[in-house]
Amino acid sequence: AEEMLIRSEKMSVAGQLAAGVAHEIRNPLTSLKGFIQLLQSGIKRKDEYYKIMIDEIDKIDTITSELLFISKPMTDEKKLEKLSIMLNDVITLLRSQAKLFNIEISLCMDQDQLIYCDRTQIKQVLINLLKNAIEEMKDGGTIEVVLTNNEDYCSISIIDEGPGIPEHILHKLKEPFFTTKKDGTGLGLMISYKIIENHQGNIEIHQNEDKGSTFKINLPVYST
Ligand code: ADP
Ligand code: MG
Repeated sequence: AEEMLIRSEKMSVAGQLAAGVAHEIRNPLTSLKGFIQLLQSGIKRKDEYYKIMIDEIDKIDTITSELLFISKPMTDEKKLEKLSIMLNDVITLLRSQAKLFNIEISLCMDQDQLIYCDRTQIKQVLINLLKNAIEEMKDGGTIEVVLTNNEDYCSISIIDEGPGIPEHILHKLKEPFFTTKKDGTGLGLMISYKIIENHQGNIEIHQNEDKGSTFKINLPVYST
């Protein structure tokens, strides 16, 4: 049973990701098609259009390489990784999908941090939490990703402007298959908790004072 559960976890993340990526690739494709039609109609300013078209192709290229990386089977290869690189990769992947829902993702970090981790797994956690935030923010808004450090731990806070989490379901979030969404899998948070525990860290959930909730990932920092 344990093994089946693990297999379905992997699939669900891939499935969730697939939907987002389909959106992301469709955007630059639509734009490319528009420019090709403009060029067909014999318009001037060709060089300007070519440049935009190449940028759009680059976007698709970034997304597909990121996907290929993430879709590799779950490994457990811990190395020293820069948090800034992992955060930037994930935010780049999700930013255009977020834009479709009028959501901005902002990143705030004073100081980079080295983490001894499996970067595929940590990226998976960041994707799960950001996707949850996006899915709750039906009216758009801003998701803030804030990195803070103290001596032993560094924390990544994902602060959303969604409806927040009702007190009475808080204890259920970690349970597999608990979802309040029509097409949810209820596996994202369970996987995320497992991964962070596998890295000797923990996840805190807070209610924001004004609006929404904060998922705070605490991870031990590398020190010599
Ligand atoms: P899924 O996203 O498939 O529902 P998750 O394990 O990722 O599964 O999340 C479980 C549930 O936790 C969600 O259905 C939702 O009710 C709640 N939840 C998770 N993140 C948030 C959030 N940022 N704001 C409000 N509720 C959340
Ligand atoms: Mg989820």
